[in-house]
Formats: sequence, C-alpha cells, structure tokens
Amino acid sequence: MDNTATADAPNLDCLIIGGGPAGLTAATYLMRFHRRILVVDAGSSRARWIPTSHNCPGFPSGVHGTTLLERMREQAMGYGTPIVSGCVARLEKQDEGFVATAADGQRWRARFVILATGVVDRMPALRGLEDAIASSAVRLCAICDAYEASDDSIAVYGPIDDAVRHALFLRTFSPRVSALPLDGSAPDPELAQQARDAGVTLCPVPCTMRYEPAGETADAADGVVVEFEDGSTTRFTTLYPVLGSEAQTAIATALGARCDDNAELIVDAHQQTSVDGLYAAGDLVSALNQIAVAVGHASIAATAIHNRLPRNFRERRETQPPTAPDLPTPAR
Ligand SMILES: Cc1cc2nc3c(=O)[nH]c(=O)nc-3n(C[C@H](O)[C@H](O)[C@H](O)COP(=O)(O)OP(=O)(O)OC[C@H]3O[C@@H](n4cnc5c(N)ncnc54)[C@H](O)[C@@H]3O)c2cc1C
Repeated sequence: MDNTATADAPNLDCLIIGGGPAGLTAATYLMRFHRRILVVDAGSSRARWIPTSHNCPGFPSGVHGTTLLERMREQAMGYGTPIVSGCVARLEKQDEGFVATAADGQRWRARFVILATGVVDRMPALRGLEDAIASSAVRLCAICDAYEASDDSIAVYGPIDDAVRHALFLRTFSPRVSALPLDGSAPDPELAQQARDAGVTLCPVPCTMRYEPAGETADAADGVVVEFEDGSTTRFTTLYPVLGSEAQTAIATALGARCDDNAELIVDAHQQTSVDGLYAAGDLVSALNQIAVAVGHASIAATAIHNRLPRNFRERRETQPPTAPDLPTPAR
C-alpha cells in the first residue's frame, strides 16, 4: 500500500514526524491497529551517537544505537510502515486535521500528528569530539551510562552551577569527580559548599580540550586532556558536557503548543500537546530523555490516537486472513 499523500489525497490517520525510537514505536503501534500512517524522518536520531546502551530493556549485553534504530525500523517496516526521508518545515491546522509541508515541498494531510523530533545537544569545543563520543571518553547522559564510568576520573563541563549539580550526581559513581566551569562566574555558595563536602574538585576555566586515545601516552584508557590558562593539563577518563540541548519544537510552537521553562513540550496524560490533535513523544517532551521513556510516550500517544479515530471494524473474510506479509522473525 502506498501511503504517500499529497494535500489533495485522502487523509492519513496519523502523520509521524521523526523516526527515532519514539516515532518508530508509534509507527509500529499504529500499523498494528490497521491505521493509515506515514513517517517522515530527517535521519539524525540522537540514538545514532550511542556507542553501546546498557540500560535499554531487553539487551542484557548492551546495544549499539544504530543497531537499535535499524531493528526498530525493521520492526515498523515489517508491518508496512512507509518511511519518507525528509524534514517537515511547517505544520498547519486545516479542517479536521493538519497539513504538513516538507522542506522539499512534499505535503501530507493527516487527521492526527505525532511529533517525535527529539532534541539536539549543544556540544563543547573539543578536538576529536566525534571519536571521543564513539569511544565513551565523552558521554552525554549520566543517567544512561554513568554506571559504565564507575570509578573513572570524571570531569563535568558546563555553566558552573550546572556542572557542580551534575558532579554531585556523579559522586554516586566515582570518588574522583571535578567540575569544569564554562566561564569565570562564581558558583552559588551553597553548591560550592556541597561540592567541598562531597570532595568534588572545582577546576579553573579550561582553555582547550582534546580527545586522546589510549596508547598515545602511558594511559591505558581513552581520555580527554584539558589545558588550563597557566599551561597545566589534566587528563580525565570521562568528560560529561552539561551544555543543554534544543528541543525541536518549532513546528508545534508555531501552532501555539505550550512549552515548559526548558522549552520542552507540555503534554497531557495521553501525550497530547495543548493543540488538539497534535501529540508529542520522546525527548522533545518535558520528561527524562531516555529510550524507555520515548518508547512509553509513543505507545501512549499511538493508542490514544487509535481510540479517537473513527472505528475501523474488520470486514468478515470468507477465508482465513493470511498472516501479515514480511513480518520480522521473532528475536530469540
Ligand atoms: C551519546 C548518547 C548516549 C545515549 N545513551 C542512551 C542510553 O544508553 N540509554 C537511553 O535510554 N538513552 C540514551 N540516550 C538518549 C536517547 O538517544 C534518546 O532519549 C532517544 O534517541 C530519544 O528518541 P526520540 O525518538 O525522542 O528522538 P531522536 O532519537 O533524536 O529522533 C528524532 C528524529 O526526528 C528527526 N527530525 C527532527 N526534526 C525533524 C523534522 N522537522 N522533520 C522530520 N524529521 C525530523 C531527527 O532527524 C531524528 O531522526 C543517549 C543519547 C546520546 C546522545
């Protein structure tokens, strides 16, 4: 079935914008509800940065982010989900639904929309950043992977108060935690005291930071070398930048959807934004930025949408219906 629709074509039941863990889960659910949907995806899921996730349910030995995305895509496509590469630039309310327009001019009309466009991390100026993330010398999510950094020499880099708060969080995992300030601002005195009490080192502002693979020096592990103004350097095994991220909400806010102080979308218990018919799932929603959460959001949104759509009773068939085509083989 070709689900691609122009604005003149019949309505989709639901357009899903974003094909990361949230969007792909929503697609699998809605296809299994026999709904007419389409996913538009710009192809830059945050999950592609994950070297190995160890907290993703069902993967006791961990899973690489791109492997997880491939498997979720395969699962959604196994039920016939059409996935179009593209970037939705505009969403308009029209009649009983929405019209979405992609940057290349493609258009789709849908009764409901699930926005699953994620967030984009603000990255530090660090030489060799991509290799550092791939090798886990730079980590972006302490809730995801601080366990793997247990007992490492850890630095947290960001606005000083944020850096100290995260450093205190990371003390659960290592006795060697330092806070690296983004600039020369003084820390909140109470936080500074908590840092001293917890044995968190407050460092000067770094001048440069660079990734240093294992073996380039005597160190057995990969690391990040931080250079300070006085010429001294310190090597950390793990660096967590805490520079925040930008929720990809522009399409929703242009329609009046409300956000919290962190510029992330506010949703109700069914994942609906303050715009009727527009649902949101995953990192761009005000909640923990985690795969398990994104998947949970998506299943709630997809089920709520199915229940709001007109009933799609199955026709009686003369012969037993065949099993759905190309279903993926269950994993063992
Ligand atoms: C280094 C790193 C390690 C991590 N480790 C873990 C971990 O171990 N465990 C864990 O639970 N989480 C981890 N995370 C977080 C996890 O990756 C995210 O929570 C998850 O990817 C969120 O899924 P999502 O579908 O909301 O957003 P994303 O995965 O970011 O997907 C959003 C998709 O929407 C697309 N998109 C954006 N705008 C548009 C548009 N206008 N039109 C069309 N498409 C659009 C993007 O291109 C992207 O493909 C990690 C993140 C990072 C960066």
